[in-house]
Amino acid sequence: MDNIAIVWFRNDLRLHDNEMLCEAIKKATSIIPVYVFDERLFWGKTSFGFEKISNFRTKFIIESVLDLQKNIRDKGGDLIIRIGKPEDEVFEIAKQTKSSFVYCNRERTEQEVFVQDRLEHNLWTLGQELRFARGKMLYYTADLPFPISQVPDIFTNYRKEVENIVPLRDALSAPQSIPFPITELDRGEVPTLKTFGKNDVTSCHLENSKFKGGETEAKNQLNYYLWESHLIDTYKETRNDLMGWDFSSKLSAWLSSGCLSPKYVIAEKNRYEKEVTKNESTYWLYFEILWRDFFRLMGKKYGNKIFKLNGIRNVEPANNTDVELFSKWASGNTGIPFIDANMRQLNDTGFMSNRGRQNVASFLVKDLKMNWIMGAEYFESLLIDYDPCSNYGNWNYIAGVGADPKEDRYFNVMSQAKRYDANGEFIKYWIPALE
Ligand SMILES: Cc1cc2nc3c(=O)[nH]c(=O)nc-3n(C[C@H](O)[C@H](O)[C@H](O)COP(=O)(O)OP(=O)(O)OC[C@H]3O[C@@H](n4cnc5c(N)ncnc54)[C@H](O)[C@@H]3O)c2cc1C
Repeated sequence: MDNIAIVWFRNDLRLHDNEMLCEAIKKATSIIPVYVFDERLFWGKTSFGFEKISNFRTKFIIESVLDLQKNIRDKGGDLIIRIGKPEDEVFEIAKQTKSSFVYCNRERTEQEVFVQDRLEHNLWTLGQELRFARGKMLYYTADLPFPISQVPDIFTNYRKEVENIVPLRDALSAPQSIPFPITELDRGEVPTLKTFGKNDVTSCHLENSKFKGGETEAKNQLNYYLWESHLIDTYKETRNDLMGWDFSSKLSAWLSSGCLSPKYVIAEKNRYEKEVTKNESTYWLYFEILWRDFFRLMGKKYGNKIFKLNGIRNVEPANNTDVELFSKWASGNTGIPFIDANMRQLNDTGFMSNRGRQNVASFLVKDLKMNWIMGAEYFESLLIDYDPCSNYGNWNYIAGVGADPKEDRYFNVMSQAKRYDANGEFIKYWIPALE
């Protein structure tokens, strides 16, 4: 008898190192891969009324799903597409196909947990199980030398207890083939930006053309950054730059959507160190990806606190919600060129450098004394690489409500601009009137 497993793709839009897919193939005779465009995200608003997902990220996700569909078809399978609520859509497919169980990657943040819990309850009514797999982090929680409740709140302490101690697991290979059942199931169609009432991306900066969604493009960028250009050799020196494509890895959007596995990135970095060069810069890529794991662990340890004004430290930050002042910041019209240039880059491309993010966030909270959640939600809406733990974790940090050992961290915008944009190249690019 055909033993069907549904594989529900979420923020894991890849075939390589995909634990849930490998598990499902081991346990079932055929697989139904599914992706659901969640109507609450693609049509939804944040609590301050911003679009939950801008056209930049929507486009990136659509491209990623199309690439996933092609890659699955190349392996003999197919990807079922739905628009709606995953807990209803996946449930309906399970009912219709009389599947045996459903696999997904376990998420840990409020909205994502809500959806997976509802689906699990729905499946119970069919006598089916929702089986969880892992795949977000570089390290498995089970391999860490401390329980989640004891994860050090200070990054350096966390890093010292992990690096060179916890063994890195191998990234799993993509399956050879994906057996698909004979079924009448409607395959569905991948939507377009228009489906969600979103505008096409019309700006044509470097970031607009280079951030193309999908596992194929993800591997191309990793390949470019390491093996083709050797840019990784100087990463530590360039990573705080602002202009162009090459100063940092630009892997974030592919990591956030799961087109790329962090284990695979670090395995490639390790291979590069063996075969080409090993130096402080090559190490530093690992160091930054550890930050990503760290914020995910903070999210696990503190749960919803990372989304609350008082954060994980329960302190009282600034709380101005003046809409006019906020929209000057958001639209890049504060009159402070370094802030405005960065915000205009975000508004036009969905991307901003790490240095830029730190400065505009600090300016909003520490100089304008605004409620940091407004800024975090604005980033959530626009960032092409939005990830709940990385975004809210970093905002917690800068707002002084997070895991930061340094009390009152402050970025002096003027001196930062002088240091990182000494000849004003970045400012002039984004605000040509200042030429
Ligand atoms: C206020 C604020 C909000 C942020 N929001 C997000 C977000 O929603 N999603 C996101 O992926 N990153 C976020 N970051 C972290 C960081 O700015 C981006 O990961 C980075 O700029 C992406 O560019 P890159 O891939 O070239 O990074 P690289 O410098 O090449 O770093 C390599 C990878 O390490 C990880 N990384 C690097 N720095 C951080 C960091 N501080 N925190 C967590 N992971 C890190 C990313 O996955 C990144 O792709 C935020 C930072 C700040 C200050």
